[in-house]
Amino acid sequence: MSALIRIEGVSKRFGNFAAVDDVSLDIRENEFFALLGPSGCGKTTLLRMLAGLEVPSEGRILIDGQDMANVAPNKRPVNMVFQSYAVFPHMTVAQNVGYGLRIDGVARAEIEGRVREALGLVKLDGLEARKPDQLSGGQRQRVALARALIKRPKVLLLDEPLSALDAKLRETMRSELAMIQDQVGVTFVMVTHDQDEALAMACRCGVMHKGQLQQVATPADLYEYPANRFVADFIGSVNLFEGRLALDQPDQARVEVPGLGASIWVDHGVTGATGGTVWAAIRPEKIELHHRGAQADVGGGDPPPLPAGTPVDANLLEGSVRHSSYLGSETVYEIEVAGGRMVKVLRSNVRRYEERAFEVGDVVWLSWSPQAPAVLLS
Ligand code: ATP
Repeated sequence: MSALIRIEGVSKRFGNFAAVDDVSLDIRENEFFALLGPSGCGKTTLLRMLAGLEVPSEGRILIDGQDMANVAPNKRPVNMVFQSYAVFPHMTVAQNVGYGLRIDGVARAEIEGRVREALGLVKLDGLEARKPDQLSGGQRQRVALARALIKRPKVLLLDEPLSALDAKLRETMRSELAMIQDQVGVTFVMVTHDQDEALAMACRCGVMHKGQLQQVATPADLYEYPANRFVADFIGSVNLFEGRLALDQPDQARVEVPGLGASIWVDHGVTGATGGTVWAAIRPEKIELHHRGAQADVGGGDPPPLPAGTPVDANLLEGSVRHSSYLGSETVYEIEVAGGRMVKVLRSNVRRYEERAFEVGDVVWLSWSPQAPAVLLS
């Protein structure tokens, strides 16, 4: 797929402050791209530059091969859906949706046909004559979406499109919005600070922090192969161990973590940072829990079998369950290991009734495969 949007070395400064700092990024035709990051990271400013509502201090933005430098917002092949999904309160649904076409002087019969088509797309058929105050929040959001899509933009920009909806509706709208995008084949660029939302909806995500783009990848790659500590921590839940890269070979590496009582062994090399400080990132669901025995016989109980080839002193920790949170489909355990460090372990509840439960106070073993940790340099 070719790049529909090309962002080349774009920065935006407000006074001395760089809200967006040297961002380069290609967004492909027909993809659902999410710009993701904490509040204030610059994602909205970047979106506004695509819309032409802010002018870059440096760099270029090309859409469909055309430099946008001197193209006014209303002449760009983009349309924007705002956070507050502003719809005109005095107009009916049909009038709201057809508004942009009326302004453009499109013939009435064509407007009617396209309004019908757009309302069908967002599943609002039959509600043409309603006013916005007779609609639910989710329906108003769909009106805003239909109004933006009816003009058939090449790119639809969405600024926190679901943030005004309640949690349950937000979840329903996630898959609906993704399906609508798939159906219309318009390139969607969405800004959100909600990582679940971005992972659930986008084909690819760009993670921003302090104005800089940290990583661009598919949701699965962001989660499994974060590029740095910020991304590992921001996307999902993670256990981060700071240590020294004591061994670094193409097919294995070892991180020594002071005071942990075990080293972290991984099945891949870490491009030449031997001796340096690194972080090993292990997701809570990748750690296995094993019973070590009742508190009365602490010190007893054999360690669990480790994956073939794992050195005996690696990837194995003893700990004590300090807290457990039952979350329905899974339970999250906080386990205290050597040095008072807390490790988060997530366990599926699929076999909850067949297995012996872990209780607060239980002494346990924690183990993980050498494939589980990601070793991060910064
Ligand atoms: P949020 O999720 O809170 O909207 P964001 O990641 O979208 O955050 P931006 O709105 O892009 O962040 O803002 C990035 C930074 O630039 C913030 O620190 C903000 O205060 C600053 N900023 C944005 N617009 C202006 C402006 N017009 N003048 C001065 N500073 C601004």
